[in-house]
Amino acid sequence: MSNLKSAHRRAERKKLLFRIGAIILVVLMIGGTIYTAFISLFFSAYAAENLQAYAINSATATIPYISVGIIYGNDSPTSYRLEAANGFVIGSVHSNTAVRVFEPMFTLPQTVLTPARDTNVSKNADGTYSPTNEYYQTKIGAYHIQLSINASTVQKLAMLPQIDAAAKSAGFYAFPAYINGVLYIRVGDFAAYNQTVNSLTRVQHLFANYGVEIVQPSETAVSLIDPATDHVAFEYDCGEDYYMGLTPIQRDFNNPVYIKTPAGNTYEGVFAISRYKTDAVNGITVFNLVDLEGYVEGILPNEISSSWPTEALRTNAIAIRSYALANWGQHDKAYGFDMCTHHCMSYRGRNKVTDSIVNAVSSSAGEVLSYNGKVVNCFFSSSNGGESISPNTAWGGTDPANDIGAARSPWERYSESSHENALWISEVSPSELASYLRSKGYTTLTGDIASIAILEYAGIASGYVKSLLITDTRGNEVTLNTTGKVQTALSRYVNSANFVLGRGVLQYVVDEVQSITATERTSGAMRPAVAEGNYSVYDYFTEQPYSLSGASVFTGSGVQTLPAASSSTVFTATGVYDFSGDAYLMTGMQAMDDNSAETVIHPLDPTTGLVVAETIHNNTLITTTLKPILKTYTAASSGNFIFAGKGWGHGVGLSQWGSHDLGKAGVKAETILELYYPGAVIVDRSKIGW
Ligand SMILES: [Zn+2]
Repeated sequence: MSNLKSAHRRAERKKLLFRIGAIILVVLMIGGTIYTAFISLFFSAYAAENLQAYAINSATATIPYISVGIIYGNDSPTSYRLEAANGFVIGSVHSNTAVRVFEPMFTLPQTVLTPARDTNVSKNADGTYSPTNEYYQTKIGAYHIQLSINASTVQKLAMLPQIDAAAKSAGFYAFPAYINGVLYIRVGDFAAYNQTVNSLTRVQHLFANYGVEIVQPSETAVSLIDPATDHVAFEYDCGEDYYMGLTPIQRDFNNPVYIKTPAGNTYEGVFAISRYKTDAVNGITVFNLVDLEGYVEGILPNEISSSWPTEALRTNAIAIRSYALANWGQHDKAYGFDMCTHHCMSYRGRNKVTDSIVNAVSSSAGEVLSYNGKVVNCFFSSSNGGESISPNTAWGGTDPANDIGAARSPWERYSESSHENALWISEVSPSELASYLRSKGYTTLTGDIASIAILEYAGIASGYVKSLLITDTRGNEVTLNTTGKVQTALSRYVNSANFVLGRGVLQYVVDEVQSITATERTSGAMRPAVAEGNYSVYDYFTEQPYSLSGASVFTGSGVQTLPAASSSTVFTATGVYDFSGDAYLMTGMQAMDDNSAETVIHPLDPTTGLVVAETIHNNTLITTTLKPILKTYTAASSGNFIFAGKGWGHGVGLSQWGSHDLGKAGVKAETILELYYPGAVIVDRSKIGW
């Protein structure tokens, strides 16, 4: 399944290349003149040939498509310039949560085209267009003469050059318009109705064979402007869920060209354009219809560096894919596309897509994180500071599907400067904090802050503050009762809700990671386990008590080989066992089984104070050696509050830097995600209905 997409693409490319190859061969045999004619036909205006390779039909395609807002909402522009090196394929998009269709109609050789709102426009110095009510400022008018022709779409497009020539003889031009599923040919652009009537009187004899009417600007239509000529090249108005579509002409599908936007970003797939109107704005919505794997590629290098370890890149590719499917369609009602680029993930198309990005996505193609048979809404943030919390803890809510994502992650090197803003400290005076909280809407706090008390921590042995009581000098109180509210309320002073606080002087502990090792366990290897409070050793594969003679065992000082001729097969609950005089430190060990993904932390060396954290999952033993260091911070004023914390972000689910640290140690992406989301498993999306 994971190769289906690339196989599909390869097959499409093969088909197309074969077709083009065969045509070129025949054409070459016939002669150079006809070959030249063919090429110029293919890339001439409104040619409607060889376009099936560009079609998308979600009813038959095995690839799910994501529609991603590029410019929309209050940013909706009057016009939006698009570039493609070989020109464009133009067509009709039908997109909602049930269907994803792109039906190509014709090509345009222009390398720059500007979709725009269907209204009278003036031209700005930077080449964009603005709506205008002034007749003398109008560069392109929104009134046209419309010809109804009784013929097929392909026939009408074939007639267009002839009609255009006739129009030009009268000083106008012709272009196609696709209106509610019917192709019309429109002539001229006029700034006012009367001007159009006068012009029509002048040219009517040229179009005596066709039905003729005047069309006015429409609040639902999109125009496509050729900015080189300031002519309309196409108009589109087909109702709800239908969009004008543009995609780049490809000369070699193995070496694709992309659409370039004014922001300088480049994109694969199809651009879809519709109208957007509120009291505040009247413009166009532009979204990009891209297949799922291309969408993941367009996000990954904006979330983390493409130079990160391969398994870290793969981890984040799977997380992004899971998040995308879990949130698929979420903006459909408001905007007509699935995902935005403001509060959803940071999608920027092809700009930063390197070979390492492509490899990470293709080598994990189709893989998603699943919990109870559903795709996980796979939240991630920059750094979790050694532990994570569930969505319900962060933002409230009781959906059991959001009760996952809390786990220890002792391997995160949050104390190192490479892990941006992941270890931080700040102080604030009682009066400044009060005015800041008032600015955040906590207006009941009328006095200076008198005290801050942590009422409850979240998660597993967690440092995330789940409930915080703030009291002012007049006895007014504010209680914040999710980690999200705590972080948001104090956002100027904290990078996460994973903090301790004090006043004047604060002592706090930072765990410095000394080493991370990942050991792949093989058949017959041993594991510690617990039964009724007694530790024992058993064979993982047979689940029988195992002869310890010569076996490997995980101990507080790493993997040890037991000496021969031992007669015992059981460790006692006291945690210490003596094999032929050799002591094995088992102190503090807890229950572990293969799929628990639990982490056990216990002292390693009483003299150095080093601590070891051991995690077993998917036959991988991850051993992290930690050095807890006590630090002291003294505030500028003894009355100031001090926040000392770890992590950067909401701390829910996956930590990007944590995945970096595990990936660097060689842990597989699938294991990394299952460690951050205990209970969830990696599956192919087809297994859970995608
Ligand atoms: Zn969004």
